Amino acid sequence: MTHVTCPSCQAVNRIPEDRLAADWRQAKCPKCGTPLFPGKPVDATGEALHRAIERSDIPVVVDFWAPWCGPCRMMAPQFAEAAAAVGPKARFLKLDTDAEPEASAAFGIRSIPNMILFKGGRELARQSGVMSAGQIAQWIARAS
Ligand code: ZN
Repeated sequence: MTHVTCPSCQAVNRIPEDRLAADWRQAKCPKCGTPLFPGKPVDATGEALHRAIERSDIPVVVDFWAPWCGPCRMMAPQFAEAAAAVGPKARFLKLDTDAEPEASAAFGIRSIPNMILFKGGRELARQSGVMSAGQIAQWIARAS
């Protein structure tokens, strides 16, 4: 069984491995009906972020960004493309550092864009600066 949190209501879902491989596109949260693997980045609050990191078996990739940050806006479509390519193998979250300054401080974010990769509740790697979709996918595969 693989545990993943719902991107919408944060409920922890348990998914059999064969289901994850075969029909992950159909997997929905039984509590709220949201697709568990939307194939795109999801905006997260600090609380949702902590819960996803602590309760997910799959890697969680977080893009720390802000609306005023030009390089962040440049990277957003690349991050979305990587999310579509990686599918159910990782959860892609975005955290607005202006809206969630406490979470940003808790993770020691000093410059943006900054990405952190988590797995099993631990930070595996972090990367600052703009990356292409291909570089993001490679970085996740190498580090997780
Ligand atoms: Zn849900």
